Amino acid sequence: MASERLLVAEDEPALRQVMCDYLSSEGFRTLPAASGEDALRLFAAERPDLLVLDWMLPDLSGLDVALRVRAQGTTPIIMVTARGEEPDIIVGLEIGADDYLVKPVSMRQLAARVRAVLRRATATQQADVLTLGTLRIDFLGQTVSCEGKEIPLTATEFKLLAALARSPGRVFSRLQLMEAALGDYYEGYERTIDSHISHLRRKLEADNIIQTVHGSGYKLMPPGD
Ligand code: CA
Repeated sequence: MASERLLVAEDEPALRQVMCDYLSSEGFRTLPAASGEDALRLFAAERPDLLVLDWMLPDLSGLDVALRVRAQGTTPIIMVTARGEEPDIIVGLEIGADDYLVKPVSMRQLAARVRAVLRRATATQQADVLTLGTLRIDFLGQTVSCEGKEIPLTATEFKLLAALARSPGRVFSRLQLMEAALGDYYEGYERTIDSHISHLRRKLEADNIIQTVHGSGYKLMPPGD
């Protein structure tokens, strides 16, 4: 039984109700939002598993919401756009939306897309091997290669890279990375992460794969995309 939580942002009350009712009948939990601001507030408070975003929303557009959600991680996004707004879809997909639907939306189609996008996202989270641009990470063998050349990493470096790579584009704080890489057994300062990161960068022979986000932490951007 699916119990994933879906944020549904749609300003037309009747359509919002129909979408939420149908998705609930399909076993999902729904979080309805009537505006862009509403959607962002709910996203921050509830951390849903997926967002269905209408393109045209009061205050913030669906695109604005998508951009801000993308800056914080890889939560899947399905954009909904009115007919005639198709060129916008390209922009939506470029900023990292996972799929799109054109109105009038068939509820069966919506539920099917939601399932497909969630399945894809789960596959990335649980994949044994991830290929990100020229970088290949084998989680079972705990090996990493770049452009086919294996890169020897320490166990800590591997765990750090693995945490970053499971959610490309998401910003991790130093504390989050310490917990991911060192578990409960770490001692010392969050700044130790900085030295592990600088070793990783040297071994990957690239400074731009793991990027510093000033004041926040680090994120991984796939190389060679
Ligand atoms: Ca609308």
